[in-house]
Amino acid sequence: MLDIVIIGAGAAGLAAARRLIEKNASFRLLEAKPHIGGRAVTDRVTLGAPVDLGAHWLHSPTLNPLTPLVDRYLFHVERGEEDFRVARNGAILENHERDECASYVEACFARIAALSDGERDCPVSELFPVRGAWHDLFEASFIAKQGVPAAQSSARDFARYVWEGDDWPILDGFGTLLARHAEDIPVELETPATRIAWGGRAGIVVETPRGVLEARAAIIAVSTGVLAADVIRFAPSLPDWKRRAIADLPLGNCNKVALGFTRNPFADLDTVMLMPDLGPDESVEFVVREGGRNIVATMFNGPFAKALAAEGARAMTDYAVTQLAAIFGSEVKRCVTDRIVFADWDRDPWIRGCYAAARPGRYAARAELAQPVEDRLFFAGEAAHDRYMGDVHGAYLSGEAAAEAALAALRAA
Ligand SMILES: Cc1cc2nc3c(=O)[nH]c(=O)nc-3n(C[C@H](O)[C@H](O)[C@H](O)COP(=O)(O)OP(=O)(O)OC[C@H]3O[C@@H](n4cnc5c(N)ncnc54)[C@H](O)[C@@H]3O)c2cc1C
Repeated sequence: MLDIVIIGAGAAGLAAARRLIEKNASFRLLEAKPHIGGRAVTDRVTLGAPVDLGAHWLHSPTLNPLTPLVDRYLFHVERGEEDFRVARNGAILENHERDECASYVEACFARIAALSDGERDCPVSELFPVRGAWHDLFEASFIAKQGVPAAQSSARDFARYVWEGDDWPILDGFGTLLARHAEDIPVELETPATRIAWGGRAGIVVETPRGVLEARAAIIAVSTGVLAADVIRFAPSLPDWKRRAIADLPLGNCNKVALGFTRNPFADLDTVMLMPDLGPDESVEFVVREGGRNIVATMFNGPFAKALAAEGARAMTDYAVTQLAAIFGSEVKRCVTDRIVFADWDRDPWIRGCYAAARPGRYAARAELAQPVEDRLFFAGEAAHDRYMGDVHGAYLSGEAAAEAALAALRAA
């Protein structure tokens, strides 16, 4: 019998597979989509340059275990701090105002981290400082980080996230990097697991539309959105503690639209992260002319992202173009092309959101999610990592950990 079946070929599932290859274990890796990568996937065609639909930045590059891949595969990244700008009432703030704003936002995040050391796991919003002039922008930044408003986010969980202070955009695409690193991993595409029977004596039985397979254990590396929606039926059902952990790690929202321009209507901006100060109900970030390309990627965050994406790519495009024109003038409208890269992660049936945020009071849910069920079902993914949650490298490390745990359990059996 096969040792292990892995469900999902995102960062976590691929990392688990690589570890099993290293350890000479037998496995099969099933992926529902026609491609690997999950939330780390790159569109290289539509705009004639790589555009990431999901993950794009190598967060905390000095700590990130994926950083060495950049040099190994000769990929291009922008090293060093990204230029951050803020627009208010249609004008980009002067540097001294931008610095004031950035200090306020940083101070708010530092305060949350300091206060959430206490015993009580309250909503992050309860730790907000007295409102300063930049408070709306801070709240919008929070939603951009977490995908959910602060009232829905556990303070202790948020404070546990480790960030070393830098983010490198991968110009060739994070999805391309992950795919390059996974070239030698065998994956069965368009093969969703629909049912997992795990109550028998011998092992587990996984049903797919392409047939049934048996293994001694499974690593389930799909999002908590997919697990919560019962896309995979478990027989018997998962225990209550596991179902509760899944329910307490709901996915937030972050959707994207990227537009190409025939020339540069963005003055001297080059590789700039621009946030318009529109308050928490419209948390939006523009990535302007990264790598000097005439492309703007717009990230919509939180409930606003979900609502606007539901109206479709046109609504998101119109919104982005209107906001950009308010800042850079009507030239924006004249030189935007009709080619659009659009990602609605909420309506992707194999993902169902962006990344998981623990509900207030439930910071322990990540450890519970990572806990195996009867040494037979192992769980991996960004939501299961307790320091790099929400990130590709968190997912990757959790996949490696699940593979190690599964192998140890099989050895002990
Ligand atoms: C818009 C956006 C921006 C982001 N930006 C960044 C960033 O800049 N940097 C960063 O580090 N992280 C970022 N992230 C987060 C990062 O993409 C994720 O944390 C990470 O990719 C999750 O990997 P995973 O393996 O846990 O899950 P996934 O990537 O969701 O992989 C799970 C896989 O399982 C498959 N699957 C689902 N159901 C089944 C089934 N029944 N059978 C078989 N297969 C199934 C899915 O198709 C998918 O391929 C971003 C995410 C989004 C959405």
